[in-house]
Amino acid sequence: PDLITVQELANRMAARAGEVVKALFRMGVMATITQSIDADTAELVATEFGHRVRRVSESDVEQGLEGEVDTEENLEPRPPVVTIMGHVDHGKTSLLDALRKTDVAGREAGGITQHIGAYMIQIPSGDRVTFIDTPGHEAFTAMRARGASVTDMVVLVVAADDGVMPQTIEAIKHAQAANVPMIVAVNKIDKPGVNLDRVRNELLQHEVVVESLGGDTQEIQVSALKGTNLDKLLEAIILQAEVLDLKANPNRAAEGTVIESKLDKGRGPVATVLVQKGTLNQGDIVVAGAEWGRVRAIIDDMGIPLTGAEPSEPVEILGLTGVPSAGETFVAVEDETRAREITEFRQRKAREKVAAAAGAARGTLNDMLA
Ligand code: GDP
Ligand code: MG
Repeated sequence: PDLITVQELANRMAARAGEVVKALFRMGVMATITQSIDADTAELVATEFGHRVRRVSESDVEQGLEGEVDTEENLEPRPPVVTIMGHVDHGKTSLLDALRKTDVAGREAGGITQHIGAYMIQIPSGDRVTFIDTPGHEAFTAMRARGASVTDMVVLVVAADDGVMPQTIEAIKHAQAANVPMIVAVNKIDKPGVNLDRVRNELLQHEVVVESLGGDTQEIQVSALKGTNLDKLLEAIILQAEVLDLKANPNRAAEGTVIESKLDKGRGPVATVLVQKGTLNQGDIVVAGAEWGRVRAIIDDMGIPLTGAEPSEPVEILGLTGVPSAGETFVAVEDETRAREITEFRQRKAREKVAAAAGAARGTLNDMLA
């Protein structure tokens, strides 16, 4: 049955718990603030306090959050979102840094590079590419565990002098499990005596067949250190993006995923989000996981304030009431009431899960003692 504690009911009505206890007493129900009452009783109390009650079931609350269906004519091309993966020391960070420096838009904007967990660059052709820049594989794994799919493709970095290593294999497995296409970037080709055939054959053993061996995985030889062939790697990404025919409707309420979040001393909760559908506007009310807020500011990866962000754009948002977890989805909703309803529902669900787990643990203990 649906139960709610007296305290929680009071919180939701913004009433004193003592007043709720008194109201219950008048109705012949003896309850302390930590006790639970059923939904019918709660509804009676709420009505007495002058509230109009609307019971929300799971489907009610979550409905409409992803309900908007886009038709083909609403869709517009969007930039690809790329994650760089590979074994430690094979040059992921170096490559991400080198690619970022190729941004033609950033150079003009004159902003200062921010480390917000993702960045977008514009290449000379005018195409844009978003790179997810989260430390290690953990964030990607955490996001996948939450069912979030943020990346359109993986660039697998393999150091030419080291070849396929355990984390290379792990990355291959992640990409395959997520059904995300891969581009192989053979890095450190500036080093003397590298053996490309060895790398290709090692990849082959893990079902990654590069084009030169008759497969359809693009292989680009790069040097992150010297900046060699970064243009070719970007071309390969754009080509792969064309094959994927990436599109989204920018003209709807925003939806996306939290990439990173933190509590900033001066600015409060700060979340880096990737917009995946719609346009996120300053002033929007958003729900992110079990947190919500009015978007006070949108800041890009160069620290420049924006009024809005479109699909595939990674931005920092300020104004949330708490810090959501990486991998959680966010969605813009019509008003604060709706935002409160969804977040309270999600927070209650989370508490129930904890309580159920505690209850189960107690049960087990009792079983053991019996
Ligand atoms: P990560 O652990 O994959 O992020 O690797 P890093 O980017 O931190 O690079 C590990 C080491 O390899 C650093 O000492 C880099 O300077 C070096 N490195 C990265 N890319 C290249 C490259 O293209 N050529 C050479 N010679 N060294 C590189
Ligand atoms: Mg690194």
